[in-house]
Amino acid sequence: MKPSNFEYFAPDNLNDVISILDQNSEARVLAGGQSLVPSMNFRLTSPSHLVDLRNIKDLNNIKIENNHIKVGALVTHSELEFHPKIENLNPLIFNAMKYVAHTPIRNRGTTVGSICHADAAAEMPLILLMTDGYVVANGPSGSREIFAGDLFQFHMTTSLDQNEVVTQAVFGCISPNKGTSFKEFARRHGDYAIAAVSVIIDFYENETIKDVKIGSCGIASKPVRLKECEQILLGNKLSQETLEKVKELSSNYVTAEDDFHATNSYRKHLLSNLLNEALLEAKNDCLGK
Ligand code: FAD
Repeated sequence: MKPSNFEYFAPDNLNDVISILDQNSEARVLAGGQSLVPSMNFRLTSPSHLVDLRNIKDLNNIKIENNHIKVGALVTHSELEFHPKIENLNPLIFNAMKYVAHTPIRNRGTTVGSICHADAAAEMPLILLMTDGYVVANGPSGSREIFAGDLFQFHMTTSLDQNEVVTQAVFGCISPNKGTSFKEFARRHGDYAIAAVSVIIDFYENETIKDVKIGSCGIASKPVRLKECEQILLGNKLSQETLEKVKELSSNYVTAEDDFHATNSYRKHLLSNLLNEALLEAKNDCLGK
């Protein structure tokens, strides 16, 4: 199918982007177009105006500052994945990115676009949440920072106003002493996750858990932290008993209803198994350092 008619703009400054968005309530930002254009072609969305960011300077930078990775709105998934410092500074971005679609899509699609699109099964929103990240949003009344926990509201719904444009997503770096793991199941590689899990973990010398973060996507209407599971693990060893408790508790977080891809109970089964694998992998990663 073809999209309905729209007007196309490609301003060279942010003020013009914001003013077009502000004056036209059905105007939308265009970044890599890898999600917006297909949804326009299917007439799932019909913006009156597309405001392309391609001519705005300084949006294609990755900056490493104060233990944070600042990703500009025009940085593609591939540019972030292959930045020479990313694997060390945030192995979750590096490992999860391989599950984001396919190379040609990662070469065009932007990480900020994925975060703004906020698909509940997308990987980068989960990693933003896991690393206490935030976005910088610019609108008619200035700039504000929105933390991932406040940004993602529902599947494909964020707390951004229609007249705001995100200039940067800011991910936290992960301490090199911590272990990490990212596990995902999809029917075909490159499809959105039916369920995915991510873990950041640290241990005391006696192998009790000093710090742990667990998050998941694909199982609810937005990416979630599994805080009850984290609480069970803190101060304990990763024994068979604690693993069983965590697996059991994890099913409380699976709120996605049965759909074309999977039933709710299948997602629970997937999550508990992926979580088990991810915790063991993250432990090995941490203790092997
Ligand atoms: P666009 O398509 O240009 O925009 C997406 C939305 O975000 C639009 O509503 C747009 O208005 C808004 N937006 C974009 N940038 C900004 C901004 N700076 N400020 C405010 N709003 C903005 N993604 C995954 O995470 N995992 C997958 O497994 C996956 N599989 C895919 C498979 C296929 C076949 C395809 C086509 C896409 C897939 N994607 C997947 C989506 C891909 O990651 C997209 O690149 C990404 O979701 C959107 O990035 P974009 O730059 O293309 O954004």
